[in-house]
Amino acid sequence: MYIDKTLCKNCLDCLPVCPMGAIQLENKEVFIDYESCVECGVCLRFDICEQTAIKQVEEIPYPRILRAVFSDPVQTHKSTGVAGRGTEEMKTNDVTNLFKKGKIGFSIEIGRPSVGAYLKDLDKVVRKVTDMGVEFSEDNPVVPLIADRKTGALKSEILGEKVISAIAEFMVSDEKVIEFIHEMVRFLDAEIDAVATMSVISRADEKGVP
Ligand code: SF4
Ligand code: SF4
Repeated sequence: MYIDKTLCKNCLDCLPVCPMGAIQLENKEVFIDYESCVECGVCLRFDICEQTAIKQVEEIPYPRILRAVFSDPVQTHKSTGVAGRGTEEMKTNDVTNLFKKGKIGFSIEIGRPSVGAYLKDLDKVVRKVTDMGVEFSEDNPVVPLIADRKTGALKSEILGEKVISAIAEFMVSDEKVIEFIHEMVRFLDAEIDAVATMSVISRADEKGVP
């Protein structure tokens, strides 16, 4: 996203709408900080600029386009056909019957609005859970970013991209769950330089017993 200087009147109206603080003021001129902007599209959708000075480039190049697909809820991931940061399953609360008895579903979300996260932190998470032997949800938008399924390493060219958040989703067998949670809490606290949220999904029987 960028501001067309020939149209902008530096009225400051757009400054508060950016969830990442990327619309900034310097020397009385409003601009979008290229590194802070995660291409979420909020500033355009708000239609706040009467001068139509806020513009998007015709095609966001790869790997920067990953900022948009993980930050703009109306962008669809080409790899999965799903919009947003998690699988259809994550957003619709188990309508696809993904989580069978004996398997516990996990998601680890890195980042949140206003702070975001770099994909290098997601890389650390995916490597760690791969090493712990989890089973990835194949329609999770993070999976196509993995360059090496043995190590969990993400594609090197994407690690410097910033997003509002990204969610890794996978399953852990129920006998390993407690050990897994303890290890991940230790790992996230010690190794991840971003906000991290871990969620757990389990299937209950008709009596409500997980
Ligand atoms: S709202 Fe439009 S005119 Fe006003 S500062 Fe932002 S880009 Fe410039
Ligand atoms: S696209 Fe999103 S992050 Fe970038 S300037 Fe607009 S609101 Fe801010």
